[in-house]
Amino acid sequence: MKLADYYLNEDYPGVIFECLGHPIETTIDHHGDVIREEENDLQAVIRMVGDNAEFVYFIEDLVEYSDHVCSCGQLGCGHV
Ligand SMILES: [Zn+2]
Repeated sequence: MKLADYYLNEDYPGVIFECLGHPIETTIDHHGDVIREEENDLQAVIRMVGDNAEFVYFIEDLVEYSDHVCSCGQLGCGHV
């Protein structure tokens, strides 16, 4: 699934999320060594614009956003 640069998330109304890519799922063997790393292309890692907290969501639960993005991350903010 193709990713957009920004998403809206109805769990956090009024906040614009920046998309950081797909989450990586790691498989380890019984020695604790990584034997496989695979992108989960049904999900996206998103972060509130202007914040550090990252969330993982299914892409189908997010709404693509392509309008103005203010540095404060608030939807519809009038700052340029
Ligand atoms: Zn603003």
